[in-house]
Amino acid sequence: MKVQRVPLACWLFLLASPVSAEFRAGIAVRVVTPDPLLPVSGGVGPSVPVSKREGDLTVRALVLADETTKVAIVSADFLGFPSVLGNQARAKVRGIPPENILIGATHTHSAPDCYGFPDPSGKSSIDLKYLHLVCDRMAEAINEALEKLRPASLKIATGEAKGKIAFNCYAEQLYDPRCHVIQAIGADGKPFASLVNYAVHPEVLGSKAGILSPDLIGPLYDRIREKGGGTAIFMNSAQGGMVTADNRGPDGQSIRLWAECLRIGTLLADEALRIAQPAPEQKNPGLFCAAKTVSFPVESPVLRAVMMSSPLRYPTNDTNRVATQLNLVNVGNAQILTIPGEALPNIGCYLKRKMRGEHNLLFGLTNDGFGYILTKVDWGSFTIYNYVSRTCLGEMTGEIFIDEALKLVTESPAPAGSNSSPTSAKTQGSKR
Ligand SMILES: [Zn+2]
Repeated sequence: MKVQRVPLACWLFLLASPVSAEFRAGIAVRVVTPDPLLPVSGGVGPSVPVSKREGDLTVRALVLADETTKVAIVSADFLGFPSVLGNQARAKVRGIPPENILIGATHTHSAPDCYGFPDPSGKSSIDLKYLHLVCDRMAEAINEALEKLRPASLKIATGEAKGKIAFNCYAEQLYDPRCHVIQAIGADGKPFASLVNYAVHPEVLGSKAGILSPDLIGPLYDRIREKGGGTAIFMNSAQGGMVTADNRGPDGQSIRLWAECLRIGTLLADEALRIAQPAPEQKNPGLFCAAKTVSFPVESPVLRAVMMSSPLRYPTNDTNRVATQLNLVNVGNAQILTIPGEALPNIGCYLKRKMRGEHNLLFGLTNDGFGYILTKVDWGSFTIYNYVSRTCLGEMTGEIFIDEALKLVTESPAPAGSNSSPTSAKTQGSKR
């Protein structure tokens, strides 16, 4: 039998092609602590001056890639990060389509205002020059993560984060204790990136302590690095109404100290690493990303006033509606859905039940942060919900979001390794 000679160039190609087809990941960080310090915002209303800082504010980008798809997962240490800013960063990224860039906020209540919330006189303390710099740094982080892509396998895990981390201050037990972790493992068998997904308000310090800070998220990042988890990135989840950090002291009062941020951030980091540790390594995990634009009616006078008065100049001709991007990502046996605001925990648990991964992650406050997201039966129902109802776009926001999110789930393929078929997801969806 005649053996066909293969030219050297072809051998090189054969050797090289499996490498380029491999699943790859990269992560990069930029510090965005303002110098000099700026006032901080914990929600609608005037910002509060600060006299010092604890930790650094950062923007972080985790890029995942296979031979056909690239996805960037970005987290920023702010209360929220409106798409009008996120799109400035997206426009400076080369090599990832803008709709595959998911930009979330950690929801620290101790960082500069990214919305332009008006004070009682109608003025805001937003610093546009600083925010443009943040957008530049964010784009740099994404581009660097892209350049640093390297072959990786993944560990994906879900477990209950135990200990005094979070609670629901409206109804103590109504929160989701599940912590999801995605770790990128390098060729040396060690993790170089750890994504932590958990629902909590990082408001240990709160906006009135006179401190600029990433709150508990800074110590979470530091601990994961110290413990060998590589560079960490935190994506919040369905933490609205009102899943917050459990910083209650023995007298029931909040402990608004950096030491408490250290305690909770360290504990959550240790729990995330404990949960990830036994997970099997997924070699060459599949990657899929879908995006769709969803629009919501704006009925809330408070949120309409923010939109109208903001120096960010929201690109809309219709002040009665807002549009935003929803994303669905399948990676390995996990499915990720984004939430453009602060969904209440019941919405989060419901969506996780209907999603199709073995691990179902929700990225709250991602691509936009349009206040709270309540179902129509919760909206305006209890006195304790007055604040979250006022700062929700409208009575139907939750219904519209759930419908659109589940349509995206049904129309998208299930993650690899998932038992759920499109038919069963459709059936589940119709039971709503
Ligand atoms: Zn909040």
